Amino acid sequence: MPSTFSSLPLTSEMISNLDNLGYTQMTPIQEASLPIILEQRDLIAQAKTGSGKTAAFGIGILAKLNPTYFAIQGLVICPTRELADQVSNELRRLARFADNVKILTLCGGTPMRPQIASLEHGAHIVVGTPGRLLDHIGRGSINLATVQTLVLDEADRMVDMGFYEDIYGIVAACSPRRQTLLFSATYPDDIRKASEQFLRDPAEVKVESQH
Ligand code: ADP
Ligand code: MG
Repeated sequence: MPSTFSSLPLTSEMISNLDNLGYTQMTPIQEASLPIILEQRDLIAQAKTGSGKTAAFGIGILAKLNPTYFAIQGLVICPTRELADQVSNELRRLARFADNVKILTLCGGTPMRPQIASLEHGAHIVVGTPGRLLDHIGRGSINLATVQTLVLDEADRMVDMGFYEDIYGIVAACSPRRQTLLFSATYPDDIRKASEQFLRDPAEVKVESQH
């Protein structure tokens, strides 16, 4: 029998928002990963596209986010601008139960100056692509020392696209005390190498493709 979100240690506001989104039962990857994520463990999660991975890490970021602390607490790195936009949109839906969670999308191909201005205004969660995030780190326009949840989304695609070194630089700018979550559709050797570099004693979950 599939589990409902109400079996998890989440606030009633979070649960009722999920209900309003039509999320009553967890997808298999959410069921496998959320108990681990909510225990603050590092995690490698493998499941195919369309299985609900965004809500898995999104709920994890939001469950421990402090909206009254206006600093970047969650960072999601995505391979493309299109995916970063999708993740930001889903995070905004998931964050509807709280009034004032600021989510900023930082991707290449758009002017730098408005992004710097937005960063000066502050954000709770940043979603971005590797090159542009590294660019902000190099200029000193972003502070990632306050990140408590770091997500590498579609990690296999990012490695395929040659982003390994960029990701290395971004991870180095984050707090060493963060929780790191790596999501991937496949788990080749170079992802294993990345996980050893970036994650601390990670749990591993894999959901086969029936969903
Ligand atoms: P993935 O990142 O694994 O490719 P997404 O996070 O984009 O998948 O989710 C795919 C779709 O499933 C989205 O439209 C999302 O709104 C929906 N979804 C996620 N979790 C649930 C849930 N528990 N119940 C119903 N729909 C869900
Ligand atoms: Mg996804």
